[in-house]
Amino acid sequence: MQNRIYLDHAAATPLSSVAWMAMEPILTGAWGNPSSLHQEGVKAAQALHAAHESVAKCIGAHADEIVLTSGATESINLAVFGSLRAGSIRGKHIVTVATEHAAVLGAIRAAGADVSIVSVDDRGHVSTESILAALRDDTVLVSVMMANNEIGVVHDAHGIGKAIDAWRKKRGSVYPLFHSDASQAPNYLEIDVESLHVDLLTLSSPKVYGPKGAGALYIRRNAPLASVFGGGKQESGRRPGTENIVGAVGFASALSESVAMRHHESARLLPLRERLIEGLLAIRGASLNGDRIRRLPNNVNIAFDGVEGEELVLRLDAAGIAASTGSACKGGSEPSHVLAALGFSANRINGSVRLTLGRATMATDIDRAISTVREIVLGIRGE
Ligand code: PLP
Repeated sequence: MQNRIYLDHAAATPLSSVAWMAMEPILTGAWGNPSSLHQEGVKAAQALHAAHESVAKCIGAHADEIVLTSGATESINLAVFGSLRAGSIRGKHIVTVATEHAAVLGAIRAAGADVSIVSVDDRGHVSTESILAALRDDTVLVSVMMANNEIGVVHDAHGIGKAIDAWRKKRGSVYPLFHSDASQAPNYLEIDVESLHVDLLTLSSPKVYGPKGAGALYIRRNAPLASVFGGGKQESGRRPGTENIVGAVGFASALSESVAMRHHESARLLPLRERLIEGLLAIRGASLNGDRIRRLPNNVNIAFDGVEGEELVLRLDAAGIAASTGSACKGGSEPSHVLAALGFSANRINGSVRLTLGRATMATDIDRAISTVREIVLGIRGE
């Protein structure tokens, strides 16, 4: 039997052995409550503090600017609800982009904000000008992701952050705050909170080869962000409740490893991604979704005429290849709002699949993926 090939790294990455080795002694030896005064508590508190420092270092922040959370969805909700609550006198207007993850669009909807959703072009790009044009005197938050989870398109978050900062300076205001969902970024893109001009930034552990149920929200010192949860004083009162130390330590070590591997992995995966794109585009009726150049080096999202993406994914799975129709968070057969935002027809959206490469992906996997997809697509079409 052939080995399975996992090509769904945008949904979840396997746990790195470095992260596991960092977590294991915490599970067995640092189980105390970090709020306790005794030695067991102090040991746990030290591990937690080291996790804050390590995460902060990866993004050019200070340890006290990191709130460890249960993942990106929680971080995003803290950012959205917290900034609206703190900025209620100014207003409740939020600017975001049509291709943001459901966690961002859903949190904004759930918070009852007045939202302007900026559109993207047919390659998935949003322009800085269109973000600026959407700003109003009552805008409290702008949320633009660094890289898209479905089509891998990399936004000009630096340019957008710089322009927002200039807009604020001109008006002598701290508003609007700038949040970026960087969940898909750390493996491939440099993240520096200063040059990004972000006030808030979201990270997710399971995307960086860390354990699930962990992540972080970066909150710039003095950024007006109100507490959302009631409870104890953990994580500066912003994330009350006994901390997930094992998750935090695993996430912190996975993130550091990911940053250390970033350049090498990006350079290794780029030609593999191109080989996959070339191979799949050679199949009749195939079209690449999203910009080919400004795109994560591990992302391929492609549509096939006359094929249902879901059927292709299921047949690929049966043939030993794990792929996806898009965001793992959509569930069911809801069509992709991201591909719809690029202006694609229902047929193109339904005929799309996402293949995302990772650390274990080799050239032989790419070649097998191409021939298997070709065989299945031609088979479905009866060609
Ligand atoms: N944002 C992006 C860009 C994502 O890719 C994901 C997960 O797919 C999320 C947010 C949600 O992450 P989590 O499952 O850690 O809450």
